[in-house]
Amino acid sequence: PDLPDPDVVAARHEDVQPPEPGPESDKYRRGVVGIIAGGDAFTGAAVLTAGGAVRGGAGMVRFASVARPVELVRQRWPEAVTTVIEPGPHDPGVLERIGRVQAWVVGPGLGTGKAAESLLEAVLTTELPALVDADGLTVLSRRRDLLRRAAPTVLTPHAGELSRLIRADREAIEARRLEHVRRAAEELSATVLLKGSTTLVAEPDRPVRVNPTGTPRLATAGTGDVLSGLIGALLAGGMSAMDAAAAGAYLHGLAARLASAPDPGEESPISAADVIDALPAAFRS
Ligand code: AMP
Ligand code: MG
Repeated sequence: PDLPDPDVVAARHEDVQPPEPGPESDKYRRGVVGIIAGGDAFTGAAVLTAGGAVRGGAGMVRFASVARPVELVRQRWPEAVTTVIEPGPHDPGVLERIGRVQAWVVGPGLGTGKAAESLLEAVLTTELPALVDADGLTVLSRRRDLLRRAAPTVLTPHAGELSRLIRADREAIEARRLEHVRRAAEELSATVLLKGSTTLVAEPDRPVRVNPTGTPRLATAGTGDVLSGLIGALLAGGMSAMDAAAAGAYLHGLAARLASAPDPGEESPISAADVIDALPAAFRS
């Protein structure tokens, strides 16, 4: 409430209204999210991103990757519908084989080589909302041309990833986060969620939203992947890019707090999987 800048607003509890299913809902109408994540080196990112989407209220999660992460996602999240992508740079028609979705999430653990680049290009040339995170952002920093698209794009960098995307010093970003997240949204024509001690969400020509629910307990490996899947589910459910990003950050922070301190005054460390498990409680509250 006491933010000094009129172009900055704190996201409030009442702003966070994820779509609720009604009697006419079915799994397709509730939103199908397509996730392309993980690789032979990073199988955990795949499992955590899928988990964020499954617990994020998606009607269906379609998950695609090379064989090993697909196998692990199937074990942990039997709810997900999976597709194995053949390794190598060219897999024409890969998105058609994955099936129809309403929003895409691409990048966590994907690698940064030619194969990742061609998958990112396939996703960003669709006319669907798309969230790009992690390795996807590293690829995007050398392929900023892919951001020229009509559909909404959500980018979820931490300061290091943002520094590569907008070619700014990481230290300068950390020192002036608000200025840099605004500049990034303008320059990249995207919804930019800058992670860190206080998560900010910016879109060109709109007030920046400041997330009030974060906790330093989130500073542990894998929590960012959970956030990507969660925001993907909200996008597929029909929220705007700005609302999905802000609501995702809000619920993610709340889930971390509930996981770490179910009873006030008693805190424990948490893992990324604990954040996934606390998402239902965060939605209820
Ligand atoms: P990543 O950088 O992709 O691993 O994501 C880390 C997650 O933890 C993001 O949601 C960050 O906003 C959050 N996070 C990291 N450090 C902090 C911190 N010191 N305070 C609050 N949240 C944090
Ligand atoms: Mg990350």
